[in-house]
Amino acid sequence: MNPETTTSTASEDVVIIGSGCAGLTAAIYTARAGLAPLVLEGGLPGGQLTTTSDVENFPGFPEGIDGYSLTDAMRKQAARFGARFKNASVKNVRFTTGAAGAPHTLVTDAGEIAARTVIVATGAAPRHLGIAGETEFAGGKGVTYCATCDGAFYRAKEVAVIGGGDTACEDALFLTRFASKVFLVHRRDTLRAADILARRVLENPKITPVWNTAPTAILGGDDGKVRALVLRDTTTGGTGSGGGERELPVRGVFVAIGNVPNTAFLGGALELDAAGCVAGRGPGGVHTNIAGVFVAGDCADPHHKQAVAAAGAGCRAAIEAVRLLGD
Ligand code: NAP
Repeated sequence: MNPETTTSTASEDVVIIGSGCAGLTAAIYTARAGLAPLVLEGGLPGGQLTTTSDVENFPGFPEGIDGYSLTDAMRKQAARFGARFKNASVKNVRFTTGAAGAPHTLVTDAGEIAARTVIVATGAAPRHLGIAGETEFAGGKGVTYCATCDGAFYRAKEVAVIGGGDTACEDALFLTRFASKVFLVHRRDTLRAADILARRVLENPKITPVWNTAPTAILGGDDGKVRALVLRDTTTGGTGSGGGERELPVRGVFVAIGNVPNTAFLGGALELDAAGCVAGRGPGGVHTNIAGVFVAGDCADPHHKQAVAAAGAGCRAAIEAVRLLGD
């Protein structure tokens, strides 16, 4: 027997790493196929969506639904068909390169698990600024990482978007639907975003770019919510004549400085792209370079960052895993 495939425990048919929208949707589909998937819930059960207060764009909820309730309903739906859940974080993996269906090993903080198929659905985490006030005012108090989710709460208010990439520009344009004014705070004087997006931003009268500027702190008002950003001139370091720190009054701060895919635990066992996302391929874009290991959601897709997109990928990954096990 190939020593790589030797394991002390019986193999699971399907292990899903991650319990956000992608992982839970994969669990619903593989459970309904009778495979009793094991879902490893990781450090943030329910994923990023649980940190969003109101989800107004997930189809089927005309009045909206809060992120926790939505993922909780998905979890119950998966459990109803036989999905099992385990509170465990994967520390590293040993994937076999042999025949499809040969067991892979997941080393977790709760022991080793062998699995004939694995669906990696570990999501991504928004990159943080790491400045004073950021954590304090996150979660409904003015600091947010998702304009699509939270923009509508800033109707007729002045807000700032931090960043100069595609996401920052898309967020700034989206926010003009609600906000009275959008400041685009960027640390350089040229945008990284695609030309067409950059042009739209620069031509939009509701968007004011604030060039060569980085935030150093977020301040709150008497109501316990954001009242201003403290800004520093990046060309002078925030010191000297005309270069000192200044306050920009805003009620919302939309941080759009990129995402960090949760793929470090893979330790090079799967092929990643330049952004650190698992490189999806094959039917549905959910196969990986290892047979029997599939990928779904934000850990493989840096572009969409939407719950319904992650759910769709989870569905595709599940269907491919079911097909492989049925072959
Ligand atoms: P990104 O392209 O990495 O841009 C991040 C932006 O944040 C950059 O402008 C960067 O400044 C700035 N930044 C990074 N760290 C910072 C910090 N600590 N303080 C202040 N500013 C900071 O990220 P993204 O915009 O989220 O895009 C991610 C990927 O998704 C990209 O490949 C993008 O093309 C793609 N995307 C595509 C679309 C689309 O096609 N419609 C939409 C969204 C995203 P610098 O420019 O100075 O580095």
